[in-house]
Amino acid sequence: MSNLVKNILWGILTLVIISLVFSAFVAPPPAPTTLSLNQLVDKINAGQVKSVTVNGNDLAITLTDGSTAVSKKEAETGIAETLKSLGVDPKAMQTVNLAVQDQSGWEFWANLLIPTLLPLIAIGIFFWLMFRQAKTGANQAFSFGRSNLKLSTFKDKVMFKDVAGLKEAKEELIEVVDFLKNPKKFLDLGARIPRGILLMGPPGTGKTLVARAVAGESGVPFFYISASEFVEMFVGVGASRTRDAFMTAKRAAPAILFIDEIDAVGRQRGAGLGGGNDEREQTLNQILVEMDGFDRDTRVIVLAATNRPDILDPALLRPGRFDRRVILDLPDLNDREAILKIHAEGKILAKNIDLRKVAVRTPGFSGADLANLMNEGAIITARRGKKLIGQEELFEAAEKVILGPERKSRVISQKEKEITAYHEGGHALVAAAVKDADPVQKVSIISRGFAGGYTMKLPTEDQHLKTRNQFLADLAMMLGGYTSEKLTFGDVSTGASNDLKEASSLARRLVMKYGMSELGPTTFGKTEDMVFLGREITTEKNYSEKMAAEIDEQVRKFIAHAYETAERILKTHKPALKKVADTLMEKETLEGDEFYGLLLPYKIKPVAG
Ligand code: ADP
Ligand code: MG
Ligand code: ZN
Repeated sequence: MSNLVKNILWGILTLVIISLVFSAFVAPPPAPTTLSLNQLVDKINAGQVKSVTVNGNDLAITLTDGSTAVSKKEAETGIAETLKSLGVDPKAMQTVNLAVQDQSGWEFWANLLIPTLLPLIAIGIFFWLMFRQAKTGANQAFSFGRSNLKLSTFKDKVMFKDVAGLKEAKEELIEVVDFLKNPKKFLDLGARIPRGILLMGPPGTGKTLVARAVAGESGVPFFYISASEFVEMFVGVGASRTRDAFMTAKRAAPAILFIDEIDAVGRQRGAGLGGGNDEREQTLNQILVEMDGFDRDTRVIVLAATNRPDILDPALLRPGRFDRRVILDLPDLNDREAILKIHAEGKILAKNIDLRKVAVRTPGFSGADLANLMNEGAIITARRGKKLIGQEELFEAAEKVILGPERKSRVISQKEKEITAYHEGGHALVAAAVKDADPVQKVSIISRGFAGGYTMKLPTEDQHLKTRNQFLADLAMMLGGYTSEKLTFGDVSTGASNDLKEASSLARRLVMKYGMSELGPTTFGKTEDMVFLGREITTEKNYSEKMAAEIDEQVRKFIAHAYETAERILKTHKPALKKVADTLMEKETLEGDEFYGLLLPYKIKPVAG
């Protein structure tokens, strides 16, 4: 509202300024003496008048002494007549230089029009200013149903070469662009042009990025809209925006319409808790209607991205809609290295840097995490006052991305330090001594994020499958901290609570999901499983209370077994544990090779988990 007031004030100000300017130009200059016609006649008779110039009804008079004066005559009569009727002396009149001047056309029209036109112009400017302001400021007020469709207005152009990995996604998209450009080739063979492609994958895997690359490469108009914009403000707008978006795209065909974060509107209808969101449902319905409304050779392809395919309305996935689905996975070792390389561009790295080593340490990182890592590396380097980003800084950046920044400043008592050293030493030693465990990369008692200390173990290669023995080793290692505290101090601390939570959840999965317990190869509970999201949502309990008790018992057994394994290892290798803990208290952090170096004299033989 205040905007409107401001506009009006501006308008008034403009008017005032214009009228000031106007009056400054039009107002006559300070008037010369005005003579009545009688006075003029007297002066002529007295021989004081040199010339009279007639311009319309105005008389400009020059006297013999050089001064000037003005006068006016009647409109209908000529000047000579007028003077004569007033009794001018014809002799004296002859000495007066009488001239009649035509009003120039320009002056005539200006005199006529300016007084009427100027206010109109001023009012026009006033309204123009108001509308312009209103349009840019409170956009919505004048364009309810507009979709804010951006025509590939990404700031910097992205090409496929800027996207590492994601081979399947790229191939699929290239094919589709080919469809758009040469439909005949496909139509002749009876193929149907795909309507919609859904990009699915965890956050940060490059869905938006690869779509932008399509915009950069395809050479067809590319329209971009984020689904959350559909439902932005007013009820009823989502649907009309959708219509608008599709219309714009169709008009520009062949074209690509990219709907980012489609889950914002594409949720299962009628599934909302506490009543569905009408607005969203209408928007979704409109999307469906529009996609169905494409005829056989509409050359518009709808690209959409989501990281929650699990909640999408099944209607979206029916043939003729988003019938092609591309999964974008977290990058594997080679892809991580490639992504790091891309984001190393423009950064000043030390010569000897080995990005592969960084990639090895970062399984589970998404593309966005890796981009973040390179940036953190640069920041850490700058903070240290160095000129080149080194291997050290990148490793540290990786840890920072995983665990949050080091909190060296946190004051911990000597006792706490000792407990943490034995806790982490316990994890590390169990990991080193149990078969099938991943090697230890780093042990530290420096607090990070919420963790008191940490033991990093990393798989040497990306794993897609894990065996029961590996899980058992993991469980034993998770309990290593707790067990070590208990054996050393006869007491346990809250530092182990997170370990216990994770161990319990893993044990439960072994029983209920992987069929790895004594209950045999069966699963319990209906779970909607999004493998790549690394989480599942239990939706239905499809087993009896009796079975529930047995599941609990199996979980308990897994944990008990892991505890026993950890206890056996730590009891057998007490001197090694002491050595590791003492070194940790002294140095605070041990790299993998330092740690294994410490263990050499103790000749630790691997035991089964
Ligand atoms: P999302 O899948 O959540 O849409 P984005 O496409 O927004 O993820 O990716 C976020 C950022 O991560 C990108 O801007 C880019 O810098 C980086 N990134 C992600 N994947 C890749 C990749 N495959 N190659 C290069 N950079 C990537
Ligand atoms: Mg995105
Ligand atoms: Zn722990």
